[in-house]
Amino acid sequence: MQTHSITVPFVPPSGNRKYPPPAERFELMVDRNGPVVVRELGPCWIWKGRRNHNGYGQIKYPGGTLAHRLSWVLRFGRIPAGARVLHWCDNPPCINPGHLHLGTQLQNVHESMERGRRHVCRREEHGRAKLTEVEVAEIRAAYSPSAAPSRFLARKYGVTKTTILRIVKGVLWPQVTA
Ligand SMILES: [Zn+2]
Repeated sequence: MQTHSITVPFVPPSGNRKYPPPAERFELMVDRNGPVVVRELGPCWIWKGRRNHNGYGQIKYPGGTLAHRLSWVLRFGRIPAGARVLHWCDNPPCINPGHLHLGTQLQNVHESMERGRRHVCRREEHGRAKLTEVEVAEIRAAYSPSAAPSRFLARKYGVTKTTILRIVKGVLWPQVTA
């Protein structure tokens, strides 16, 4: 009588089939077409899973619970004891390993402050120091020729009527889409 060999699917010793290896679970949760925060860095990879209160992606893996740290481990290997995995892009849910680097907590604070200053400088260079991106989005959402005309919004935000209309038409601040 002929016998057939049967391939039994491998079940890890824990027997927990709901939890494939971290690399596989990680791969399912990556959106590689995230926003481009810094042009030279290219798009952020956004974590589609759970986030903690600071906006960092969360995933359980041996040695930690933060998705961007796992991203570093998968690409570059072990994180030295006490080191932090920091974002060049300042975007907490980003897990693009190319946007990450190792540093200390102190470095983290210094770098965010430095980046904050650079953002402010860039805005002033463009002569648009008066409005923030949030305000621009507010103006676009609020504008209505009858209920919130340009005259009203101009007074509220301290700019001219022409500026309001150019913002609404997208001539000014075209990069703000919200
Ligand atoms: Zn990023």
